[in-house]
This record gives sequence, C-alpha cells and structure tokens, in this order.
Amino acid sequence: MSTQATYQAGEQLTLGKWFKNIWTAVRTVTKGLGITFKYVYGVKPVTIEYPEVREELPKNSRSRLFNDVENCISCYQCATACPVDCIYITATRREKDAPTIKAKNGTPIKLDLMQFTIDTALCCYCGLCTTVCPTECLTHTTDYEFSQYTLDEMKYDYLAPDIRKWRERIVG
Ligand code: SF4
Ligand code: SF4
Repeated sequence: MSTQATYQAGEQLTLGKWFKNIWTAVRTVTKGLGITFKYVYGVKPVTIEYPEVREELPKNSRSRLFNDVENCISCYQCATACPVDCIYITATRREKDAPTIKAKNGTPIKLDLMQFTIDTALCCYCGLCTTVCPTECLTHTTDYEFSQYTLDEMKYDYLAPDIRKWRERIVG
C-alpha cells in the first residue's frame, strides 16, 4: 500500500528499480564529491589569507595619494583640476631675503606651503591632480589600507609627521 502511495500513476517499485535507485544515488554522490575534492586538492586557491598575506597592486594603481611636500611649489593646479574640490592648500609668500629653494625639477619655490590636505573620503581617484602637477610631487601610491572610523580621519594632512612615517613605510 505504502509503495503504491510513493510511486505515481500506479508505478510498481520492483527490486530492479530499487537497485537502480541505489546505483543512481551512489553514482551522483561520487560524481559530486569528485568535483569537490578536485577543487579542494587539485586547484590553486584564488583567495589569500589577508592580512597575513597581502596582494601587491600594480605600480600604476591609483590608490592613496601622496604629496612629497618638499617639492610642492604651491601652484594650486591640482586643487583647480580636482572635480570634487577635495584638495585644500594654504600658502604664503616667502620672505624676500629667504634662501632660494627649488623643487627637484629645478622650479623655484616662491611660496611657503602652510597646509596641504586631501579629503580622501571625497576623492574619486580620477588622477587628474597628479596629471597636472608640474613638479610631479603629487602621486598615487599602491596603499589601499587606509580605512578610518570617522570621516574627519579621512582628511590627510601632508605636512603632519605621521604622514611622513606612512610615506617611509609605503613609498620607501
Ligand atoms: S584623484 Fe581626482 S578626486 Fe582625488 S584628489 Fe585628485 S583630482 Fe581630486
Ligand atoms: S599641482 Fe603639484 S606642485 Fe602644484 S600645488 Fe599641487 S601638488 Fe603642489
């Protein structure tokens, strides 16, 4: 009675069908486990054990910005080019009798940089600011680990000592 209830349309469960079902179950489970074991033991993993293991980004990645402020001439071109206005610069004219200083490409530095801050919470990493920089002091780095707890902490002051320490770690 119960067999007839399990099999529709009056189908009888014969001994042959019962063995066939057992065989199908064993075959499909074996096939499935075969695929599982192939991926467990035979295929190279595509994930890494971050943070113990870190991926190195390509050298031309547009990640966290760095301004080598010693070579910044305070020309404001980066701030002007920035589509989201997230670069804040303050500079004052140097004293007339102050010693002549130049950026690494020979451009005279006529202004004292007082503030160079980038709000990376607003930055869209378009790279326009680095493209227009005449002394090439503003560059993207490959640093992608700079999450913070507050939006305020995403504002990076490139004259701050901790930024220099970060630069030594990342840029060398
Ligand atoms: S990468 Fe683009 S958005 Fe970010 S600071 Fe530079 S110009 Fe502005
Ligand atoms: S474009 Fe370059 S040199 Fe000019 S203010 Fe920006 S970072 Fe400094």
